[in-house]
Amino acid sequence: LPETRLYQSNDKSPLQIFVRAKKKINDIYGEIEEYVLETTTFINALHAEAEIVDKAERELFESYVYKVAAIREVLQRDHMKVAFFGRTSNGKSSVINAMLREKILPSGIGHTTNCFCQVEGSNGGEAYLMKEGSDEKLNVVNIKQLANALCQEKLCESSLVRIFWPRERCSLLRDDVVFVDSPGVDVSANLDDWIDNHCLNADVFVLVLNAESTMTRAEKQFFHTVSQKLSKPNIFILNNRWDASANEPECQESVKSQHTERCIDFLTKELKVSNEKEATERVFFVSARETLQARIEEAKGNPPHMGAIAEGFQMRYFEFQDFERKFEECISQSAVKTKFQQHSSRGKSVSGDMRSMLDNIYERITIFRNLKQDQKNMLTERIQGTETQMMQVTREMKMKIHNMVEEVEEKVSKALNE
Ligand code: GDP
Repeated sequence: LPETRLYQSNDKSPLQIFVRAKKKINDIYGEIEEYVLETTTFINALHAEAEIVDKAERELFESYVYKVAAIREVLQRDHMKVAFFGRTSNGKSSVINAMLREKILPSGIGHTTNCFCQVEGSNGGEAYLMKEGSDEKLNVVNIKQLANALCQEKLCESSLVRIFWPRERCSLLRDDVVFVDSPGVDVSANLDDWIDNHCLNADVFVLVLNAESTMTRAEKQFFHTVSQKLSKPNIFILNNRWDASANEPECQESVKSQHTERCIDFLTKELKVSNEKEATERVFFVSARETLQARIEEAKGNPPHMGAIAEGFQMRYFEFQDFERKFEECISQSAVKTKFQQHSSRGKSVSGDMRSMLDNIYERITIFRNLKQDQKNMLTERIQGTETQMMQVTREMKMKIHNMVEEVEEKVSKALNE
């Protein structure tokens, strides 16, 4: 897409709720950091000059410097995370690629994802891969070979491969959305490990179903476990491969209402994660493959319907866009709450604690100053007393000398007369 179009669509995106909140909280924490540093310098100087603060207090102030720096680091890395689940070949990778508008994740027969793949934005136009437990950046030239190799390599199914893709290539990556693709829920016995390692910090879950069949026990079981571990997870359900329904137009509507009812029941009655109204906004009928093809055509400057697979393209394309819009609203609101609520109350408590410590020090300084003033007053009084005494003594001495001189003079004149 031309850069300007990306900007336009992006600025209206609900993801901006998160983007703006992230900027704001980072700015506020920048100010808190300045305040903490300035205060600590002041406190250290106070200790050096007058020993009004003790060592323990100084250490406490310094600990705030580290605390604030650590929170700032976490805040700068905060993102919105969406995780995709479903049976193998339902189209999880295709949905992610369609949203990214590019074929980034390998998909199709022979490309079964047998470990977790995370796609996130990279800075500076770089594209590379990183395997779990290694800092090595594997060049993008090898992305396809590596993707193939991942299928053959005996990687633990709950391990993670991170794919870094240039932010400027996709507005979702630029706005800090991180995508996680999972191995099929049908292949794993370690659902607990999966959830503990990859799901606890996910803001949104997308269940990708195959619209040509019904939801399986494995798919349901996975989300039962998720909703036991997380309170009210945000779950979207995509009935993918809906293009296939074009072959049987006579039963399209009945199949659709049957799937819709089952999906809504699953969210409301079984998982109890949403009410009826919310649930109707969480179920979609799409074709990921077709959407991806349409977007690739669009990027070439062609009309999107050139990517159509079957009759009814426009409806499916709209539905995919509708899903993206609702998804963006949900993920940004959820991420703001889960990621920033805690940090903003931490920030409040840090500045509150420091304020009361400073109030306490100020009180001590006032007492100290009054004490000094009293000492000064006492000293002044004492000096004044000494001065009076001295004057008295001087006066007496003067009298004595005067008398002595008079006496001597008298004696001398008497002697002279004699
Ligand atoms: P995953 O294993 O769930 O990640 O599934 P993939 O995304 O790898 O898709 C498996 C195969 O189904 C690939 O050949 C895709 O091109 C194909 N596929 C995915 N989505 C659709 C769709 O909406 N319609 C059709 N006709 N094929 C699809």
